[in-house]
Amino acid sequence: MSVWPQYDTWAGRFSAALMPNYGVPPVALARGEGCTVWDVDGNSYLDFIAGIAVSSLGHAHPALVDAVSKQVATLAHTSNLFIHQPEVLLAERLLALLGHDGRVFFANSGTEANEAALKLVLRNAAGTGRRYVVAADNGFHGRTMGALALTGKAAIREPFGPFGLDVRFVPYGDADALKNAVTDECAGVFLEPAQGEAGVVPPPHGYLTAARQICDATGAVLVLDEIQSGVGRTGTWFAHQHEGVRPDVLTLAKGLGGGLPIGACIGVGRFGQTFAKGDHGSTFGGNPVAVAAALAVLHTIEVDGLLDHVAKVGAELSDAISALSHPLLSGIRGQGLWLAVLLAEPRAPQVQAAAQRAGFLVNAVQPDAIRLAPPLTVTSEQARSLVDALPGILDTASTEES
Ligand SMILES: *Cc1c(COP(=O)(O)O)cnc(C)c1O
Repeated sequence: MSVWPQYDTWAGRFSAALMPNYGVPPVALARGEGCTVWDVDGNSYLDFIAGIAVSSLGHAHPALVDAVSKQVATLAHTSNLFIHQPEVLLAERLLALLGHDGRVFFANSGTEANEAALKLVLRNAAGTGRRYVVAADNGFHGRTMGALALTGKAAIREPFGPFGLDVRFVPYGDADALKNAVTDECAGVFLEPAQGEAGVVPPPHGYLTAARQICDATGAVLVLDEIQSGVGRTGTWFAHQHEGVRPDVLTLAKGLGGGLPIGACIGVGRFGQTFAKGDHGSTFGGNPVAVAAALAVLHTIEVDGLLDHVAKVGAELSDAISALSHPLLSGIRGQGLWLAVLLAEPRAPQVQAAAQRAGFLVNAVQPDAIRLAPPLTVTSEQARSLVDALPGILDTASTEES
């Protein structure tokens, strides 16, 4: 008899009814509260991945529940044929947090935010002879055809090409390579401030500043994809604020809605007005319920002082893990509550499985890297409990069959 009878049932039904593109996930979740989630068999876990950096306030946060409940009971949808007040408030709020003039387009997901950014770059280049875009090796920008064309991982991109788009890839973090690739025929450069799906890989200090200078020198549009790094994840509102670099276009999604689907493409300065009437659109984009959730997320981050909290707990977590000594542990990287635990051997799947059995949800983002992206509300005590459990988890993972 399995110890997870409900899981076994639902995993069987999942694989019979859903496409195999995700495989069959190893846990079936039933509910959550704060940083804790429960599976369908009643086991509880501390959530250190937050639905891939999405559930920024944790689960069932009263501010989010209240905002979403009120909005759905007031006006759930308008389409873009009509104005609704929350979308205006959210756009104004995002621009204020960014600290630059601009305009916002709302989408429903990360990939759609990047589709908007790509169309903006192409619209800006129309008639100029700027014919290609530059993106980074191992970068991730999404799964729809435009964003996929920019995604620097050949294994997930190449089966679906060609894309009808000239995209040139450069090694991430190499400012000279970027400089060589960006000529005055380049329409735009797409970069993450640190590469999330590649395993939370930060560039060398000064890289974003160099990218800004290269784009200024050639007239290419600098697009920063902060879909994973944005909205408090690294201890600032946006990760590029650590280096004080101004993007021309900024894309957001994941943590913005705290679990409700929303994406945003922000055009800074004149790039806020690149699109003319009719150039782009989305029926659901900026949906009032998703927007209400985002307003609640931003408000709570501010009034609860979560940026400082993220910096503090993130540093505690990172320092405590660095201080551990274990043959399977080779280091830690990242900033704020966006970290990767590095392994001396490619045993990330085993570490993820052992952590799950010990009551922690983490993510094997690379064969030798475990991503931690807990809710921004995670406490020092909860972080400590993961650190305390880690040596045992690593022991188990070291001996496990692959
Ligand atoms: C997740 C992610 C995306 C894609 O977002 P979806 O909502 O899954 O479409 C794009 N860029 C980055 C940096 C991401 O982390």
